Formats: sequence, structure tokens, C-alpha cells
Amino acid sequence: MKTIAERLQSALESIAQHCTALNKSPQQVALLAVSKTKPVEAIEQAYAAGQRLFGENYVQEGIEKIHSLQHLNDIQWHFIGPLQSNKSKAVAEHFDWVQSVDRLKIAQRLSAQRPPQKAPLQVLLQINISGEDSKSGVTDNAELLALAEEVNALPNLTLRGLMAIPAPQQNEEAQRLVFNQLHQLFELLRARYPQVDTLSMGMSGDMQAAIQAGSTMVRLGTAIFGERQKNT
Ligand SMILES: *Cc1c(COP(=O)(O)O)cnc(C)c1O
Repeated sequence: MKTIAERLQSALESIAQHCTALNKSPQQVALLAVSKTKPVEAIEQAYAAGQRLFGENYVQEGIEKIHSLQHLNDIQWHFIGPLQSNKSKAVAEHFDWVQSVDRLKIAQRLSAQRPPQKAPLQVLLQINISGEDSKSGVTDNAELLALAEEVNALPNLTLRGLMAIPAPQQNEEAQRLVFNQLHQLFELLRARYPQVDTLSMGMSGDMQAAIQAGSTMVRLGTAIFGERQKNT
């Protein structure tokens, strides 16, 4: 059994290798450690090994962990799960980033509910590129640009970019096509908003193709913390 520190080390080495092959600096791709369903001890181990960006999918679970780990005050907490209106306040009060903003109503609530003494909430718009009904997210360019404009105008949010969870494709070629489409949308946004710098795509199974297509943040769960129990 490998330790979390060892898995983290290998993940960072893979990211660095993929970057080097593309003549990029490894600093251009951030690693978000997805700790959903994993205990606080697992996060502490990753933290001790130098990891600072953590992603959680479930509001209640995430907030409990944030409370338990308050003393590690340089952790950056990213909310990456589906977000219902009635949970937006808890997220606005506790997280640093929300990657799963998929509609204006949620963005408005997050902005209104962000405590004034905190830095603006950093947000990504979630894109539903494969057009699946089962996943939330914006589905076309015009819709994306309209949402971006409204989100960008909200006072307590900072629009930083896009997030996507593309469906697994038939083959690598199809996968690459989807990632490239996402990268184009990202460039479109970046041309309009100077603070946009984050394209969150790529998970344990498809990280290399995502980095090749221009991902600036990969979200790794299994690769760092090991397999999760069913349905997560
Ligand atoms: C669970 C999850 C991940 C991590 O998935 P792995 O396959 O375990 O790396 C990344 N992003 C989101 C949005 C997730 O829900």
C-alpha cells in the first residue's frame, strides 16, 4: 500500500512530466486534491506532504471538515459538487472557491450571502459540454457568455474561469475533441475578462489529455486518496 504522501508525489511528478513534454512550467497546472468521502486524517496527511488545495462535493461533509481543520488556515477549499439553492449560504460562508456555478440564481445567492469580511468568493462556471441531462452546467456559447457577464457583475464573486466533467468518450480522439472545445470556450472568456485564469478539467482517469488541451487545474481524488466506496 502506498501512502497518501507517495501518491501525491507521483501525481505531481506526472503533472510535471506532462507539462515538460508541452514546454510548460509545472506551475501552470494546479492540483486540486478531491477529498470527498475521505476522513479528516487523509486531508491532514496530504497537507503534511505540502498539498494546500482541497475539493469537496457535499456541503455538510465539507463544512465539517473545514471546521475540524480550521487551524490549517492556508488550506484553500473548493466546492465542486452540485449546489442547491437552500445550501448556498453555507457554501458562501465557508468555502474559498465554488467550481460548480451553473446558473445565475445560485451565483446571485452566493454573492449576497458571502460574508463581507471575507475575500470575494472565487467562482468557475460549470460547463456541460457533453450535453448530458444528468449533469448540471451551461450548454452553449451564448448561454455561457450571458451568464459570465451577469456573474462578473456580482459584487462578492470573482469570476476565474470554467470547470467541466466531460463524460467518458468512445476513444482518445473524441476525448481530446471535448477537451479542446472546452479550451476554446475558456479562451473566449479569457479574452473578455482579464482575471479569468482557471480551466478546471481532468481527473484521475483523463489527466494527460486534459493537460494537453490546456487545463490549468486537475482534480484528483482516487489517484491521491485511493478508491472510494460505491456511488461517490
Ligand atoms: C469525485 C470528483 C473528482 C475526482 O475524481 P477521481 O476520478 O477520483 O479523480 C473530480 N471532480 C469532481 C467534480 C468530482 O466530483
